[in-house]
Amino acid sequence: MKAIAVFPGRKEIKLIEQPEPLTVGPTEVKIKILDVGVCGTDRHICTFAFGTPPPGSDYLILGHEALGEVIEVGKDVQHLAVGDLVVPIVRRPCSDPGCRACRAGRQDFCFTGTYTERGIAGLHGYMTEMVIDDARYLNPVPPELRSVAILTEPLTIAEKAFAQMWQIQQRLPWLHADARASEPGRGIKAVVLGAGPIGLLGAMFLVAAGFETYVYSRSPAPNSKAAVVEAIGATYISSTTTTIQEFAEIVGTFELVYEALDAAPLSIEVLQLLGRNGIFIFTSVPDQRDVFGIDAAQALHNVAMKNQIIVGTVNAGPATFPAAIAHLSTFQQRWPDALQMLITARYPIERYNDLLLSNAGGIKNVLTFDAAYA
Ligand code: BGC
Repeated sequence: MKAIAVFPGRKEIKLIEQPEPLTVGPTEVKIKILDVGVCGTDRHICTFAFGTPPPGSDYLILGHEALGEVIEVGKDVQHLAVGDLVVPIVRRPCSDPGCRACRAGRQDFCFTGTYTERGIAGLHGYMTEMVIDDARYLNPVPPELRSVAILTEPLTIAEKAFAQMWQIQQRLPWLHADARASEPGRGIKAVVLGAGPIGLLGAMFLVAAGFETYVYSRSPAPNSKAAVVEAIGATYISSTTTTIQEFAEIVGTFELVYEALDAAPLSIEVLQLLGRNGIFIFTSVPDQRDVFGIDAAQALHNVAMKNQIIVGTVNAGPATFPAAIAHLSTFQQRWPDALQMLITARYPIERYNDLLLSNAGGIKNVLTFDAAYA
């Protein structure tokens, strides 16, 4: 069985042969991997600055954004059957009895930091032909989402961010009167920083929720990212042609900023323009080696004087995955072409170096084990 493995000690990334996993426990499921998405975290792991192999292993099998097909089901598994498409959750709880988040099934808020993440921290990932996983970590996906279901995991990042946004902004009850209404964002401006998969899926979420949505990104238009933004009825503005100050004038007020940019200096500049009662959500994980100066006193002055909220968010809890799958269906019905455009290309796994050692460009690139899609 082929797998893509990172050997941090030897600073090596290679295609390895692995024995097929054999024993499916009563609560487990064997899945054949179909697609694995590649993201900045995978590329970061391939610089050997991040990522941890499982205990006792000198390598880590990569891959945390996955879509698989169930090929064997343990005897106690109720909610899955052979042939089902599934998307796994990434993070698994820590074992500390005192971690209230993990014990409550919300390992995305783990207090101890000793959680594990498949393909990232302490557990092998999905860039391999077959895996066995506990059924409770697998989410069924309707077959009609086959071609786009690999976008589920990146969409969970946006789902979690906006779930928190609604909760926090209940402090403005006259504005966010009913987060369950069909278009709760109507009349509110949202700014998305970055037009990668997490930015664009976030923009789809925001437009579907009724927000007047602006996407600010580096790539000059026209390009495929701008085309997606325009197709969903949002506004695309490039930082190559419009400065942040000019962008702020176009938008009017930054009421909600959703950052998925991975360019810390630009994000902080936008933060300094956040409006009154505004909320700024950080989702990307910038390189800690980037050092730059800001007018901290002015930034903190604004935070207090303008009632601002700054939220950082990582990972997504188990309940977020079914919510993301439901939203993917909504996006597919509303914008089938734009949703499909988020997937730039599928590559056979032998091409792993093309995706892992540099950014192949486009939006979401996928390694596929499915001959029908390669
Ligand atoms: C993944 C998250 C994970 C985070 C930090 C991201 O790329 O999507 O699930 O928690 O990396 O490891």
